[in-house]
Amino acid sequence: MLIRTLQAAAGVAAASRLPQRLATAGSEPAERSVWDAHVHLTGVAGSVEQRVDGLLKIASRVGIERLIFCMGTSFVPDPSPAELRKQNDEVLRAIAHAPDRVSGMVYVNPKQKQASLDEMDRCVREGPMVGVKLWIALECSRPELDPIVRRAVELKVPLLQHAYDRTAENLPGESSCGDVAILAARHPDARFICAHTGNDWERGIRTIRNVQNVWAEVCGSDPTAGFVEMAVRELGAERVVYGSDGGGRSFASQLAKVYSAGLPAADQRLILGGNIRRLLARVPG
Ligand SMILES: [Zn+2]
Repeated sequence: MLIRTLQAAAGVAAASRLPQRLATAGSEPAERSVWDAHVHLTGVAGSVEQRVDGLLKIASRVGIERLIFCMGTSFVPDPSPAELRKQNDEVLRAIAHAPDRVSGMVYVNPKQKQASLDEMDRCVREGPMVGVKLWIALECSRPELDPIVRRAVELKVPLLQHAYDRTAENLPGESSCGDVAILAARHPDARFICAHTGNDWERGIRTIRNVQNVWAEVCGSDPTAGFVEMAVRELGAERVVYGSDGGGRSFASQLAKVYSAGLPAADQRLILGGNIRRLLARVPG
């Protein structure tokens, strides 16, 4: 097992100490840098390394310092053990290519229990990844999720769960915000990032409001005004996380949801990076 050296990043309270590998690499003070909690290697062409370079170039242009990738160069809804390994290998390559600016979350499939636990050990316990990504293989309120959540708690990492509340029926296996709330209530010691907050965010924000271990993530939906404003009003700025869902969405359109919300500077900083850094900071020991 890797020995994880923790250090207090400049200007950041001890409670949000960061693993050394997540320390800021840019010129901005650590507490001000923008981190994107939800980025993919899709939507851009070339090798993994070329995709990372291309996305980092655009990220730099709009002031994003760190990209947190999940899943590989293709979207596979119900991945086999071999596919999980392949996709996570691609994210490991992305991290290795630009460790100062790239992190990753391990992609798992609750229908592949042992393979998922093995991948969590390989990529998080023994590797550089900092969270767990769950997509649409199985509704996350199902008991098959429990071993994965328990392992994430052991590893002290958050879980990023895709959640959509479609106006028509959800996709087979797709989780709603209600599923996330049920799972999170069952695991009060785990921390969940509700990706997209349901897309139908007015419903999604209300659904997760009373479950304190769920963070609303604002990526991927249309860049309408009001999403971030309502999330802050109902949950507090400390429970709202910026992500883009790039390359499927532009960084700029998703950043605009936050920048246009008219928030106090301190709240904006939490949403654009402070909250995800705190979620990723592991407890020493
Ligand atoms: Zn996504």
